Amino acid sequence: MSLGIWHPFTQHGLGEPIPEIARAEGAALYQADGTRIIDAISSWWVQTHGHCHPRIVAAIQQQSARLDQMIFAGWTHGPARELAEGLADFLPDSLSHIFFSDSGSTAVEVALKMALGYWHNRGEPRQKILVMEHSYHGDTIGAMSVGARGVFNQAYSPLLFDVGTIGFPEAGTEQETLAQLEAFCRNGESPPAALIVEPLILGAGGMKIYTPAILKQMAAICRAHGVLFIADEVMTGWGRTGTIFAFEQAGVAPDILCMAKGLTGGVIPLAATVATDAIYQAHFSDDRAKMFFHSSSFTANPIACAAAGANLGIWRDEPVQQRIDSLIGRHREFAERLNGRTGISGVRQCGTIFALEIDNRADGYLSDLGPKLLAFFRDRNILLRPLGNTVYVMPPYCIGGEDLKSIYDAIEEAIDHFAKG
Ligand code: PLP
Repeated sequence: MSLGIWHPFTQHGLGEPIPEIARAEGAALYQADGTRIIDAISSWWVQTHGHCHPRIVAAIQQQSARLDQMIFAGWTHGPARELAEGLADFLPDSLSHIFFSDSGSTAVEVALKMALGYWHNRGEPRQKILVMEHSYHGDTIGAMSVGARGVFNQAYSPLLFDVGTIGFPEAGTEQETLAQLEAFCRNGESPPAALIVEPLILGAGGMKIYTPAILKQMAAICRAHGVLFIADEVMTGWGRTGTIFAFEQAGVAPDILCMAKGLTGGVIPLAATVATDAIYQAHFSDDRAKMFFHSSSFTANPIACAAAGANLGIWRDEPVQQRIDSLIGRHREFAERLNGRTGISGVRQCGTIFALEIDNRADGYLSDLGPKLLAFFRDRNILLRPLGNTVYVMPPYCIGGEDLKSIYDAIEEAIDHFAKG
């Protein structure tokens, strides 16, 4: 007798198969019988350099034999110190203080608490958080509160706090979005504490892309009104959009940056929320009541920090940017190949992320098209997990040309199979 395993975002009542994976290497997952499955979504957007990268594996092995876990409140260790030193080379100078946690959602919770703590400790208790329509920031209560409302969180709505929502800056509606942001910021009665955004591309909201120019203008409006600008780079960070962080393309630096997934190369859970000195200083005091009240047991786990340190080493020593550029080029060629094809819309690309919609009357996340597409790709030994009728590709950067060709061919086949105008 065994406990039944309850999987995330899975309706067990539909009896869909749950394949078991035995090992992984590079851009592939393997079943016990040797079946090779191409990981076209980096195992939920986490893997950057490929599975079981030897350098990260070695770092984990060595660290786990030396110092496995220790309390991080009032104590510290080498892997965290070295990671903080190393990360400074990847971030703007204005982001000077790092707080560790263990998932993207907690990185967001920490960011929200830092923002409210900042205003509280300054004696100007701003509380409103501004968010963008269609956003996703995680599944804990605070992270859900700043994400889009819908079937995903309907049951939990009594727990969610109110936010101010600006529209998604769709081409042609950018000025409206900026005007909404400006209006919220000018509201003297309830001045916002912070704006949180996914820079350049909204992931779970449907791979919706907006321009660096708009991101830059949003940051400028926030700055002009003293509203903290939080960049949630949990998905976009570590190269996905073509630069290490998406905000770089807008020439801006956030006040608070959230990262997770690719921080360890996507191998082991670790997250970080990085803040400006002003935010740190608002909590720095001889008054214990002003400390930052957040912790979790595994904060800055040494093994995870060592894995993240190895990730930085890979970025420094291997041609990661070259791999990214090559992937970007392959996606671009595929987009050209699809030019003029019927049955699809919204062919788009943001760095290493490629997406399109298959035209089908059944759209929306809960339509049965998503599971049908999932099964279609699974039958072809490709791990793709469409968001409703939105098919996207987000592979590890080490993926080879043959694997990419298989993914693109399968997508074309899926279009032929499922597109209904
Ligand atoms: N923020 C963004 C932009 C994400 O895409 C995600 C997850 O996909 C999260 C936060 C939550 O991260 P996690 O699943 O590690 O809690």
